Amino acid sequence: MARIPNARRTPDNRLRCLAAEQVVRALDDGRIQAHPLPPSAETLALLDVILRKLEMIDARQGERTGRAPNPFRSAPKHTGEAHSIVSALRTLEHGKTAVLLTNDGGASLVAHNHGITSRHVGHLLAELACPNQAIGADELFAQFDTVTRNFATVPADARPSSSDFFKCSMLNGDCPQCT
Ligand SMILES: [Zn+2]
Repeated sequence: MARIPNARRTPDNRLRCLAAEQVVRALDDGRIQAHPLPPSAETLALLDVILRKLEMIDARQGERTGRAPNPFRSAPKHTGEAHSIVSALRTLEHGKTAVLLTNDGGASLVAHNHGITSRHVGHLLAELACPNQAIGADELFAQFDTVTRNFATVPADARPSSSDFFKCSMLNGDCPQCT
């Protein structure tokens, strides 16, 4: 998507690229801090282990759906996720907390198996909107569906099944998102 000139992007992709450029700017000027991984042999070995696990899940998924294996496309696809998982593991090792934000079912499974909590964009929307119920649960559910319908799709078993997912449970006096 990044190599397509703006004029030839679809309206949806233009919006996504605009959003991505905002993040790049925030990274460039230090508003979002990135912590590079130390290039130690131990870290590189761990990256390799995680990358293989992600590729294996992808290959298995490909077999199930009849998609032809393509190792050349699969490897770079998982590099960012592997990097994020190793980064979270290192953070936990230092006694800090880390939550992995991913819509990828494989990445959240690998993270879970390593004791890392993961959240998808639905969790993020629910948490951001929770203390401010100006945006209703139905609207959030519709937005979630629009955002993840064709891009960054959340696997079926992890998708919210109704707008209840986005309802603040503070009315019952107990909302884990708000507290
Ligand atoms: Zn709430």
